[in-house]
Amino acid sequence: MDLPSKANIVIIGGGVMGASIAYHLSARGNNKILLLEKEQFFGQGATGRCAGGVRYQFSTEINIRLSLKSLTMLERFEDEIGQSIDYRQCGYLILLTDQKDLDAFKHNVQLQHRLGVQTEWLGSEDIRELLPMMNLDDVLAGTYQPKDGLVDPNSVVMGYIKAAKRQGAEVFTGVEVTGIDVQNGRIMSVETSAGKINTPLVVNAAGPWAGLIGRMAGVEIPITPLRRQMLTTTPLPEIPTEFPFVIDFAQSLYFHREGEGLLTGMSNPDEKPGFDQEIDPAWELVHLEAAASRMPLLEEAGIISHWAGLYENTPDAHPIFGATPVEGYYVCAGFSGHGFMHGPVAGKIMGEIILDGHASIVDVSALDLARFEGGRLIREYNVI
Ligand SMILES: Cc1cc2nc3c(=O)[nH]c(=O)nc-3n(C[C@H](O)[C@H](O)[C@H](O)COP(=O)(O)OP(=O)(O)OC[C@H]3O[C@@H](n4cnc5c(N)ncnc54)[C@H](O)[C@@H]3O)c2cc1C
Repeated sequence: MDLPSKANIVIIGGGVMGASIAYHLSARGNNKILLLEKEQFFGQGATGRCAGGVRYQFSTEINIRLSLKSLTMLERFEDEIGQSIDYRQCGYLILLTDQKDLDAFKHNVQLQHRLGVQTEWLGSEDIRELLPMMNLDDVLAGTYQPKDGLVDPNSVVMGYIKAAKRQGAEVFTGVEVTGIDVQNGRIMSVETSAGKINTPLVVNAAGPWAGLIGRMAGVEIPITPLRRQMLTTTPLPEIPTEFPFVIDFAQSLYFHREGEGLLTGMSNPDEKPGFDQEIDPAWELVHLEAAASRMPLLEEAGIISHWAGLYENTPDAHPIFGATPVEGYYVCAGFSGHGFMHGPVAGKIMGEIILDGHASIVDVSALDLARFEGGRLIREYNVI
């Protein structure tokens, strides 16, 4: 491998964030940009294990604004990047069973309307008509946004990687960053499994591993890795092609059509932080029981595949963008289990922060690293 010994910018992590940052930086004519990924292929971390859901339905203005820009970029992706990404606008239907969620979601829908996102409020009868194959006895109401949907994560990552290469960025897999040299408060170089790279600028886009990469430079980045798992089923002909992405919010249980069957996942509220990506069989049983009770059809289905991945949670479930106390050290991570959809806009934001000193596409100044010490947390309610 011909790893350069010098670079203007080193990006650590080849998931959706690293790939999008490499594309957006190189699109602005920057040269000597290196993207390093420790695995043998790009997009094998959280990005490659995610559910591929993209949505406007958030509870904070900043997340809705990120979605407004990012989902538009996904709609234009094939024209801009030259890669099809299988964007299916099947809609997200969020089921509400808890009275306290009704008030929160009514407020969220009002906020979404104010920002131009026309999410619909549905009564329980409307939902029963839309989802006759589901057991909805306890459902009080729901929200539906027809433009939410699904996108193929691998196509987005590889689209950005190929486009970044065409623009002159150099990208490497199988290269693990093992250390970062900081002198007098400034980035000097990066140590890797394939040698040292002198550089004045590093972007930490290591997703669930971003806290470890932060510590290499003596920077505390509050990101907790948390295992989440899902499975896909054998074909279920009763599920129509236009079946939406259905979320049972109180149980953090979700379903969407995948091939001719379903993909379903459920978040374990008692999961302990850690880097374990093995399936937890006990939780899978709990999940299957809850899924079959909501969707009795599943009793007839077999499991085709199952896997686990890591959420990258911050204390307020919002990402961290921008500079750190070490000069030349930037972070773009901590998307807290809903970052795939914000990958396009996040790369553009990082390009603007690094090259212009601030982001213009969306004002993310409130999402800086310093907010945790300053106690300026903004909580997201719609975490699944
Ligand atoms: C089960 C599950 C379901 C999800 N569903 C959705 C969804 O439906 N919609 C949505 O928007 N989001 C979803 N997410 C969240 C989404 O996957 C993440 O927010 C997003 O992919 C984060 O991208 P990233 O590039 O920051 O991280 P990653 O994709 O994890 O990329 C980081 C990369 O850094 C590499 N790396 C780490 N350490 C080093 C090192 N020392 N040297 C070199 N490389 C290193 C890793 O190998 C990895 O490839 C889900 C996540 C999970 C786990």
